[in-house]
Amino acid sequence: TFITFEGCDGAGKTSVMDRVYLDFKEKGYRLLKTREPGGIDIAEKIRAIILNPDHSTMDARTEALLYAAARRQHLVEKIIPALEDGYIVLCDRFIDSSLAYQGVARGIGMDEVYQLNQFAIDEFMPDITIYLDISPEKGLLRIHQNKEREVNRLDRETLHFHEQVHGAYHQLAKKFPERIHTFSAEPPLDEVTQQVIHFITSRLER
Ligand code: C5P
Ligand code: MG
Repeated sequence: TFITFEGCDGAGKTSVMDRVYLDFKEKGYRLLKTREPGGIDIAEKIRAIILNPDHSTMDARTEALLYAAARRQHLVEKIIPALEDGYIVLCDRFIDSSLAYQGVARGIGMDEVYQLNQFAIDEFMPDITIYLDISPEKGLLRIHQNKEREVNRLDRETLHFHEQVHGAYHQLAKKFPERIHTFSAEPPLDEVTQQVIHFITSRLER
């Protein structure tokens, strides 16, 4: 089962996913956690290029292509082999991030970015997507309070940019109700985590 975590910056994807991972691990599931862009050496190197604060001249399509390249390598080198070995794979971000950030917020167009990604993933979509919903204001506030977070090129984006991302996720959740499940990311971390664990458990037993 391939499970992705999505949401605006500051929603708590990484924190919730880490907790979900530990919980299922303790319960004896075979599972793997990974992230995008990154997850393996080649993709982590592409990540460093994309997010480098000095790369402010990067063109939106260049960015979209790099994300798609990182995604493909991550998929073929790590995600698919793990799924074939029977692992549950938890992934921090996947294609929906590209549809929201590059497709909508950067203005390339969702359909265009979807098409581009088809070349990379060949219809390989997540089984379940956990969408952690937070208002962009609150998300940005959390990011500015988190001193451990790595500095990246996106830190300079405006509230408007993040509102576009948020709107896009909302649109995606409406478009793919079977796959994308929305959870409010505003309650305390433990509460959000419990809700997500409960939901995933019910889906795995189905
Ligand atoms: O989720 P994480 O914090 O690791 O993402 C790193 C940065 O990359 C974030 O600022 C996120 O907004 C940005 N990003 C992006 N387009 C994507 C995926 C992530 O702009 N497709
Ligand atoms: Mg994160």
